[in-house]
Amino acid sequence: MSGKITFVGAGPGAPDLITLRGAKALAEADIVVYAGSLVNEKILETASGAELFNSAKLSLPEVLSILTVNYRAGKNVVRLHTGDPAMYGAVAEQYRELDKLSIPYEVVPGVSSVFAAAAELKIELTMPDLSQTVILTREAGRTPVPEKENIEALAEHDSTLCIFLSVNGIHELTGKLINAGRAPATPAAVVYRASWDNQKIVRGTLADIADKVIAAGIKRQSMIIVGDVLERNGEVSRLYDASFSTGYRHGGGTHGYKGKIALFALTRNGAYKAAEIAAGMDDATLIMPEKYAAGLPSMRLETYDDGDFSKTFASAWERFDALVMVMAAGIAVRHAGKLCQDKKYDPAIVVCDEAGNYAISLLSGHIGGANTLARDIARVTGGKAVITTASDVRGIPALDEFAARNHYRVVNPEILTRFAGTILEKTKVELEMPLEVYEREFAFAPGFELSRERKDGIIMIHVGNMSLELHKQVIALGIGCRKGVSAKRLEEVINDFLSRYGFTMSEITFLASVELKAEETGLLEFARKTGKELRLFSKEQLNSVEVPHPSEAARKQLGVNSVSEASALLAAGSGAQIRAGKYADENVTAAIAVNEAP
Ligand code: SAH
Repeated sequence: MSGKITFVGAGPGAPDLITLRGAKALAEADIVVYAGSLVNEKILETASGAELFNSAKLSLPEVLSILTVNYRAGKNVVRLHTGDPAMYGAVAEQYRELDKLSIPYEVVPGVSSVFAAAAELKIELTMPDLSQTVILTREAGRTPVPEKENIEALAEHDSTLCIFLSVNGIHELTGKLINAGRAPATPAAVVYRASWDNQKIVRGTLADIADKVIAAGIKRQSMIIVGDVLERNGEVSRLYDASFSTGYRHGGGTHGYKGKIALFALTRNGAYKAAEIAAGMDDATLIMPEKYAAGLPSMRLETYDDGDFSKTFASAWERFDALVMVMAAGIAVRHAGKLCQDKKYDPAIVVCDEAGNYAISLLSGHIGGANTLARDIARVTGGKAVITTASDVRGIPALDEFAARNHYRVVNPEILTRFAGTILEKTKVELEMPLEVYEREFAFAPGFELSRERKDGIIMIHVGNMSLELHKQVIALGIGCRKGVSAKRLEEVINDFLSRYGFTMSEITFLASVELKAEETGLLEFARKTGKELRLFSKEQLNSVEVPHPSEAARKQLGVNSVSEASALLAAGSGAQIRAGKYADENVTAAIAVNEAP
């Protein structure tokens, strides 16, 4: 009488992540050949009575002989693989040998570590606007990877990458991905032993994940996931980049914008004009061919070799919030056209002629702030700003820009385009919003009337038979501080932090910190002055949330992983995300969490 051979996917590790069919096969097994340390012993315990073999210590012929001999002796044999057998399970050669011997076998799938990791990260690997393709791959080890599948070639697709068996060489891997053109700020995560009790999750970007993984002591048994889908809400992929500030916000009455500007020129005259503009801007960098750099006044300057403009421009696209091109519009269009994707993320682009007569807002006029920037450049050069977005031409505020600037979420964004079109046709728009918002943003716009003052965090805008609904986001400012820090010092550091990230205190909904600071006079006085509610959380509460930048110092001194980031997340409520953090001076740390859909 012959027995039975069943290949079973054991799942990622947790004993209850095996399928019912797999569990049944194990319970009935006489012999189990399991794939080494990645199979949880607790799963093996369910094969009570079976004789166990660790295949990590066996060669392929030895494994095959255990399978075939026991099959012929009428035994139930389970060949237990980790995750799903179809991924790097080395099952193909076993199937082939059994086929040759005409020995039948069954295969029971399992939960692959890639899906266990996605579950632990709580992400969807395929998100409509970000990536609809997942590449499962590995770096070459003892097993080579076919030349056409080298990681640089795969990186070109910009799709979600799930990389097995490669955490060991993560430094080299991230370096290759960046060299192949993936932005250094692309989100990346590593999940060590997903679903096991000693699981660890490390999050970061291509630029810093390798260092973080090494600092966490992780060397093996990890899934690496790279891609924008790691930011679950599809928000700006540069979230964790400390130098990133969102667009060109000019809310709160302070006109002007914040963000990093790069200026390009391709001729000597253009270079002089660019330098003139840069001198009138905050945070501007000139990017020039080496040969024009010499005569320029000393300022922030990067140079590149002749012929490298394309490459340099593409890298600046990722690094800067706005690109000012002192050159023919055609050149700018050709280069920007290849890179632009979405008005939510693309940098602002302004084109300027060499004489400075015109500053043309070319790309990301509203959200990116190119319209504002064009006006400011025109002021510096004495030229004219060229603005073509319809609502600006008519002096009508752009509602998506208004919402972003004031930290409201558009609940029904799908109607925005139609809505804006209708506004252009109709003469009357009715608004329900706080009075001060109306006065600041709409009072000057012809036909925009405040029909009802409203302070419940909801704004309604009605035109024709359509209504646009906006909800205020909850923004929490988490603060950590050393004992005895004065209110004045806190105020200085926090103001600096807020302005760096383009926030104002008036936009903050809550302040947050740790309960241990309930009697910290400086902090209390600071909070009183701001007039904001200070929400304090216990150590246990703080330790219950996962933060992007845990703090060694906080762990040592207070026994918590993070004060500023964790308290901001808790105060902002479930679903909140860190938008700016962690900012630290030697005495104060700060972070901002935003809950877009409270
Ligand atoms: N068949 C398995 C993969 C086997 S190759 C599956 O479908 O998951 C072994 C590699 O899988 C490891 O180097 C690691 O990259 C990944 N892996 C397996 N179990 C894992 C787990 N619990 N957490 C993270 N990665 C895991």
